[in-house]
Amino acid sequence: MALINTMEGLIDEKLRIMLEGETCCKCERCIEDMKAIALNSLPSKYVNTRNGELFSKLDAGIIQNSADIAIAISKAIKKVSAHPAHNKPQ
Ligand SMILES: [Zn+2]
Repeated sequence: MALINTMEGLIDEKLRIMLEGETCCKCERCIEDMKAIALNSLPSKYVNTRNGELFSKLDAGIIQNSADIAIAISKAIKKVSAHPAHNKPQ
């Protein structure tokens, strides 16, 4: 039995869509930082892959349209693009 955080997949997908309209740095390092910040500000949504598959797809449709996710991602994009980790002084 494996547990997956469905929120992680959703954020990954939505972040990449939202980044298409942004002019900020989109390197893997920044994307990972944005994902981490967005994930930390949203509730985790764990399902076990055997029982949860149908449920999570249904659930994902509802969560995906949630304004909370868009707000959390847009905040994460602003935060990271203002201070990219690779631009910090050594
Ligand atoms: Zn970067």
